[in-house]
Amino acid sequence: MMSTSTIGFPRTGPKREAKKALEAYWAAGAANGPQLLAAAADIEAAAWRRQAEAGVELTGLDGTLYDQMLDAVFQLGLLPPRFQALKASAEPSPADGPYAGGGGLDLYFKLARGAEGAPALDMSKYMDTNYHIIVPELCHDTAPCADWSPLLDRVRRGQDAVGVASAVPIVVGPCTLVGLARGEFDRSEMVARLAPAYAQLLRDLAALGVPEVQFHEPFLTKSSAEGLAADCAACYGQLAAAGVPINLVVPYDDVAEGTYRWLIELPVAAISLDFCGVPVHSSGADYGCRTAQLIAKYSFPKDKRLGAGVIDGRGCWADASGRALRLLRALRATLGADQAICVQTSTSLQHLPYDLASEPELPSGLPAPLAFAVQKVEEVVTVARAASAATDGAAPAEPHIDLSTYTGAPPPAECQLDEALFRRAEPYEGRRPKQVALPPFPTTTIGSFPQTPAIRRHRLAFKQGRLSLDAYRERMAAEIGFAIGAQEALGLDVLVHGEPERTDMVEYFGQQLSGFHFTQHGWVQSYGSRYTRPPIIVGDITRTGPMTVHEYEVAQGLTSKPVKGMLTGPVTILQWSFARNDVPRAEQAAQLALALRDEVKDLAAAGCRVLQVDEPALREGLPLKADRQPAYLRWAVDAFRLATAAAPPEVQVVTHLCYSDFDDIMPAIHAMDADVLTIENSRSGDEMIHALAASGYTRDVGPGVYDVHSPLVPSVEWLADKLRSYLQAGLLGGDASRIHVNPDCGLKTRRWEEVLPSLRNMVAAAQQLRAEL
Ligand code: GLN
Ligand code: ZN
Repeated sequence: MMSTSTIGFPRTGPKREAKKALEAYWAAGAANGPQLLAAAADIEAAAWRRQAEAGVELTGLDGTLYDQMLDAVFQLGLLPPRFQALKASAEPSPADGPYAGGGGLDLYFKLARGAEGAPALDMSKYMDTNYHIIVPELCHDTAPCADWSPLLDRVRRGQDAVGVASAVPIVVGPCTLVGLARGEFDRSEMVARLAPAYAQLLRDLAALGVPEVQFHEPFLTKSSAEGLAADCAACYGQLAAAGVPINLVVPYDDVAEGTYRWLIELPVAAISLDFCGVPVHSSGADYGCRTAQLIAKYSFPKDKRLGAGVIDGRGCWADASGRALRLLRALRATLGADQAICVQTSTSLQHLPYDLASEPELPSGLPAPLAFAVQKVEEVVTVARAASAATDGAAPAEPHIDLSTYTGAPPPAECQLDEALFRRAEPYEGRRPKQVALPPFPTTTIGSFPQTPAIRRHRLAFKQGRLSLDAYRERMAAEIGFAIGAQEALGLDVLVHGEPERTDMVEYFGQQLSGFHFTQHGWVQSYGSRYTRPPIIVGDITRTGPMTVHEYEVAQGLTSKPVKGMLTGPVTILQWSFARNDVPRAEQAAQLALALRDEVKDLAAAGCRVLQVDEPALREGLPLKADRQPAYLRWAVDAFRLATAAAPPEVQVVTHLCYSDFDDIMPAIHAMDADVLTIENSRSGDEMIHALAASGYTRDVGPGVYDVHSPLVPSVEWLADKLRSYLQAGLLGGDASRIHVNPDCGLKTRRWEEVLPSLRNMVAAAQQLRAEL
């Protein structure tokens, strides 16, 4: 028999109940703690019961008020000094429930959201997903001061909901917590320092009679984790001594070969591996299932249970091809009848919408049936039963499947596109003199302007059919007119239309391209109370007509200054959607690129001289394994080039990147062959400036001069100093004609009251610097 387990589930509730409860708590203040905790308890119990009722034997007790990493930081008491003071003065009350001992709910949320004088902990993308964790902030003398009451309370509730034998606590493992933390400290020493606090948790859980505990250690999938053998052995040796069986869960990719060899020696009861990874992230060469190959090569210890993450936890597709079942049979055949195997999803299901049954409408002709979280749990159970039936007792012998060559799907065909499509008609040196002539320190913005209540109202009225297309366009034209007028008055050099017609930079294009489906309730948590509704790529992507030309023309018709055409790049559209898994991602990126390429041609034909193609998610999709990164970067950069290379030499192609660390992909950024790179910079100190200077970047750059997430208006002096610092750092050899002046990112979440003075100061700073030249 194969057993079944879950390792994480949406924490949102089927109708985003968690968001409502959180927002109500924040609005009403601390006295509302009991309501928040009661709402969370209901959401969690319903989710756990749902999994148990589907037939899962071991239910992972997923749940959080905000984020799982924040939970670990809070319960371990890993507070940076600025929050220690807040904790000392906090006065938790019974209304804080199990959070009282750690400093109360108010402190918990302040860690995530900041407080007067105590900026929040950083937020960062989790592994290679679009989910953001709260980043632990540690230093040499950080010492844990644990109070695990919230987790223990969750376990008691879980035991009530699904029974003591089925309720399995989940905790973020020490290597992942330390691995993803920021600050100056010794990693090995910190893992060792945390171990006793985790051991204490295990003793408390033993007293509650839990069957086992899941330690989530996705950090072990990174290439760099190969060197963590000693840390992990010491730490898990100590934890194993506490007497509770440990299930070491290693999701989000396969592990490196070097890691696998020591991982299977750790003294834990079960190891859960990811057999899905990112299924189609490259074209051909790497299209396999390395976890299966590692098991074929090094086997798997008989005294441990293998957690087989064969159901894809983060793609929205059902396993229609029977891949999971074939894989389980092959594992059984290789490892023998006495090997304990537990069927699972490859990752937590937190990256998926809750339940497909809530969708009123589904498109026909899908490449495969869809499966959201509830359906994935059902698949786990079904496939486990099928695999057990086929291998137990008298079932006919399976044809032998060789795990070492297991791929699970046919290798995708290579993309056959003419190489010339990826090259601009003229090399950079030839085309730059033909492009717009701008003053030194040319000023511009990144695209969006404030999305005012009026703009939202117009869009909604149009969507609901209360406003005709003509009337809607008139309203949008008025908004564009206002934005152009404002920019003219401010004296900016390169203008934008302001993006009033776009709810979202991916949704807007998805809705106009064929091949996308938009769900009504497919919300996925991005962080805390923020959710996104990723579109689903359901077919071949084609452009059905111009998508942005009308708005560009309206804007350009109002000014003699150049207005930027504004597109979202192919990689970002793909990355922020649910991709198909029957077609390589490289090919989907190429389809998107070809569609955008037609838009580029149309914009150029309409007279557009500066064209911005945003790729903020380019870095996010970078595979976790170093050996897979070159292939990804190749197709990602190719997609960008395919989309933009159709721009005539006279058109200045701009790209925009933000909110990731780009220093490790500088060669790929060069290879994008954009004429101008605008890049978020203020939040990362001047690291970006140094990385650009060091990499010998020679094309125009616009490093963000101020943080768009702050409501503060930067002063002229401050902005001018910033620009001087670029010259001092030797950026582009101090050539001011190549240093563009712009904010970090789009301004859609700001108010005009903030935007106008900030941009006025930005232009003034640029003028001051020009005068100094
Ligand atoms: N052009 C987009 C905007 O200004 C870019 C957004 C982004 O980088 N995330 O909103
Ligand atoms: Zn941005």
